[in-house]
Amino acid sequence: MPMKRVYPDYFSRFQCVADRCRHNCCVGWEIDISPAALRKYDGMRGEMGERLRASIARDENGAHFILDENERCPLLNQNGLCDLITVAGEKALCQICRDHPRFRTQLTDREEIGLGLCCEEACRLILNWNQPVQLIVEDDGRSKAVLGKREQARLFQRERLLSVAQDRRMSIFDRMGRIMEADENAELPDLPFEKWVNVLLTLEHMDKSWTILLKKRQNSRAFAAVDDRTQEQLLVYFLYRHYLRNQKQYPRGVTAFCVLSTQLITLLCEKPEDIYEVARLYSAEIEYSDENLDAIMGSLHEYNGGR
Ligand code: SF4
Repeated sequence: MPMKRVYPDYFSRFQCVADRCRHNCCVGWEIDISPAALRKYDGMRGEMGERLRASIARDENGAHFILDENERCPLLNQNGLCDLITVAGEKALCQICRDHPRFRTQLTDREEIGLGLCCEEACRLILNWNQPVQLIVEDDGRSKAVLGKREQARLFQRERLLSVAQDRRMSIFDRMGRIMEADENAELPDLPFEKWVNVLLTLEHMDKSWTILLKKRQNSRAFAAVDDRTQEQLLVYFLYRHYLRNQKQYPRGVTAFCVLSTQLITLLCEKPEDIYEVARLYSAEIEYSDENLDAIMGSLHEYNGGR
């Protein structure tokens, strides 16, 4: 369906580093296969068809690739490249593999697209972006769809919050305070840093490096001086990604989540250069786990009087 397409200005600069990636997204994640891709794989001939079908587990919830004992996708070769792409091209990939690390949010008249921080290359690109991020809107003019009043109001409010987040006349600390005020005086629970670390430790964990990092930071008093520009890019990333898509479920928690995520990532760094790895891990462990995202955003929603 023709519609508007929105994306941050850095988006088209992204390029997967494939075999040079240290945290390949084909390792450690269970990759679901859409029904359309499954039909394609079931009909694929030759050696790759056989291999594909032997690599897929099916149950009542759908189908996914069976990871090997090292949690690697069975199609990922030792050079860090995907054998399916080599044999059949990118078109043969299932939706998740084709999209990753891109995320999408659908509104009535537009699709918003972005890059997820859980990908180390996207993370580098986002956090190293110097200028205030601009959102590019492409409109082919063929869509008749219009935003509803509520969507318009949320979009307008997000624009306000983004412009405060990018107002470089203020310190990032002040900008975060203004953003919380602008969202009906949302607040964060007044917990010391080590208590927040304890909260993160109670959540579901996937990568043991995350647990190691949290335990290490539990008792450390060394904090990195992460510059305002980097924190701004984090804050803008979280607002762009989460504000609209989580408004319905957690209207009183989503802004607080964006501010808290920026603060926690910053505080979890011992040295400024830790920011890339900490942001990548936070994203993979919190943003990409529905359970963890719901736990944090849900508690902030309730804390701010939401029901
Ligand atoms: S994590 Fe990013 S850079 Fe690494 S393989 Fe995946 S898409 Fe490519």
